[in-house]
Amino acid sequence: MALIINHLCTGCDACLHVCPNDAIRAESPYYLIEAVLCTECVGDHAKAQCAAICPIEGAIVDELGVALNPLGSLTGIPPYKLHPFHLVEAHS
Ligand code: SF4
Ligand code: SF4
Repeated sequence: MALIINHLCTGCDACLHVCPNDAIRAESPYYLIEAVLCTECVGDHAKAQCAAICPIEGAIVDELGVALNPLGSLTGIPPYKLHPFHLVEAHS
């Protein structure tokens, strides 16, 4: 049970200091969640803190690859209004 940061991460640092388990590493080319440390915040917070603060849609996913902040969830832009480039990036 752990979340995953993918290639959409910009390395903005927003998530780095909110993790209750110090599970996030500032790796390159994008940040990394150490699976053995991540509890998905269960027992500490009602929501995963990294995903709650991450400003990039699709950058944090669960073990099934489902984005915690899917396209449109932060911007309010419906996916059908996005340029195809964004759709490809978010699902690759
Ligand atoms: S879900 Fe919670 S425990 Fe896991 S990396 Fe994000 S902030 Fe840390
Ligand atoms: S908040 Fe999101 S974009 Fe910023 S470093 Fe963390 S995972 Fe990457």
